[in-house]
Amino acid sequence: MRERNYDVVIVGSGAGGGTVAKELAPLCREGARIAVLEWGAKLTEEEFACPPEGRELAMARKLYFESGGVFNAERTMTMAFGRAYGGSTVVYTGTSLIIPERTVARWAVPGLVSEDLARRSRKVMQENNVHFLEEEALNDNNRLFRDACERLGYRVEQFPINVKGCRGAGLCNLGCPNAAKQGTNRVQLPAAERQGVEVVTNCKVLRIAEGEVLARVANPPWGLPSAWEEGEVRVKARIIVVAAGAVNSPALLLRSHLPVRLPALGRYFTAHPALILVGEHERPISNYFGHPKSFYCDHFAESHGFLLETCMYFPFTTAKNLVGFGPEHSELMRRMDRLQMILVLAVDPALPDNRVTIDASGEPVVHYRFTEGVLDSLLESMKASARIFFAAGARRIHAPAGERFFIEAHEAPRLDALITRRRLLPGRISIASAHLMGGCRMGDDPDTSVTDAWGQVHGLPWLYVADGSLFPRCSEINPYVTIMALADRVAERVRSRLVEGKAA
Ligand SMILES: Cc1cc2nc3c(=O)[nH]c(=O)nc-3n(C[C@H](O)[C@H](O)[C@H](O)COP(=O)(O)OP(=O)(O)OC[C@H]3O[C@@H](n4cnc5c(N)ncnc54)[C@H](O)[C@@H]3O)c2cc1C
Ligand code: SF4
Repeated sequence: MRERNYDVVIVGSGAGGGTVAKELAPLCREGARIAVLEWGAKLTEEEFACPPEGRELAMARKLYFESGGVFNAERTMTMAFGRAYGGSTVVYTGTSLIIPERTVARWAVPGLVSEDLARRSRKVMQENNVHFLEEEALNDNNRLFRDACERLGYRVEQFPINVKGCRGAGLCNLGCPNAAKQGTNRVQLPAAERQGVEVVTNCKVLRIAEGEVLARVANPPWGLPSAWEEGEVRVKARIIVVAAGAVNSPALLLRSHLPVRLPALGRYFTAHPALILVGEHERPISNYFGHPKSFYCDHFAESHGFLLETCMYFPFTTAKNLVGFGPEHSELMRRMDRLQMILVLAVDPALPDNRVTIDASGEPVVHYRFTEGVLDSLLESMKASARIFFAAGARRIHAPAGERFFIEAHEAPRLDALITRRRLLPGRISIASAHLMGGCRMGDDPDTSVTDAWGQVHGLPWLYVADGSLFPRCSEINPYVTIMALADRVAERVRSRLVEGKAA
């Protein structure tokens, strides 16, 4: 088997891995050898700019694990996460928020303080060109949401987003065709490569052990070929940083049979379970042109455990999120240009039994059950969304737990009778997640956590984790900035370990 030698190997090139690569890159000048091993491919600009026909399914296949529809073991939720040079940052929408102080307090990780995360978050946001879009750049879908929330007295805020030269194509979740969205594929990885970090794509890490990574290179029929030859390769590394995401990092650690006891590994997985709600207007509104996500409403976060965000999804995703089939479904889909959409995110608790395990071949299996509290939050979120749609002037709405496919505007006073808990059955309604968190949670107790507050796996000074799996509980907001801030901390610790090692 071929062999290669590095000081640091980073597994995964998404929000966490890309940030660690960029932060460690200056060490290359002093002779450090650093490689990022990424399972996914690097797409060409031509592939990102491919014509819109058939784009949704073709791009989903190239950029996501299982085209964005990985099921939990119970088959009640689909999870979307990226597999590409840049990981999920290639497909994220780019909303960029700093984690609230109250959430960091609830995380209660000794040694992790809110000011430190906020400082690092601000640095990341500057790098990623985070700013507010001008009023003229907002589309009707977004403005209707904001104005209706204000009318109802619901607190509503504009999302800062991380674009540069956004042309409002609305295709952010299929990889931006205009190179406008600032993910690690545009910012951190190119910066790291310019300084000497090697990023090896189409390279799946199979197992890790002290001093060694076993990987396999295989080129898919899209993107650029890997820098390395196809086949298995043994990579020697003094330090390994695992940043394969909240599903794949715990799975990689589990199948590597590490020589330490880690009872919390894979556990406390959270997902911000999400629903898409749709309101239909009399006339066409601008929805799928323009940046899809400009506002959020956290009015109900503390009282009812949910957030509301503007969104606009593509036809396949929208169709799969409507409950039911037949004439009413097709009638609504044919009115795509009149649809207003809201994404609901539930704030879910971190429970030991919601967890990542591995199957006989070492691949991840996510066990996730909704608590009664989460189902209650989803129910209330549907009613709040319905009130927003009607306040925005929608003629009728579709709610996944509706007693009927459509609820008409004149029925608005009867929402409690028309959106009901008995219809909110996991498996019947389409619940999805794009915020995957936990599984290698930080903490100081090896019985209930996997790493310390700097991402070092308990008992293994050569092994670090630097991605969304570090979250001890959910982030209660869109998570990528916090992942980058945590990865920045991990890089700082790895850097000092490397320097210490040199001096010793
Ligand atoms: C559609 C969508 C929209 C989103 N929008 C937003 C948003 O607007 N704002 C926000 O804050 N967050 C958003 N998110 C969430 C955000 O993108 C993720 O939370 C974040 O990117 C996760 O970072 P990560 O480093 O944990 O994992 P990822 O970014 O997913 O990176 C993990 C990488 O590891 C690679 N990998 C996995 N296993 C292996 C292996 N064995 N060997 C080698 N490589 C491996 C994967 O291919 C992947 O590239 C969105 C997510 C999605 C899917
Ligand atoms: S709206 Fe269009 S141009 Fe702007 S970031 Fe999204 S995909 Fe790119």
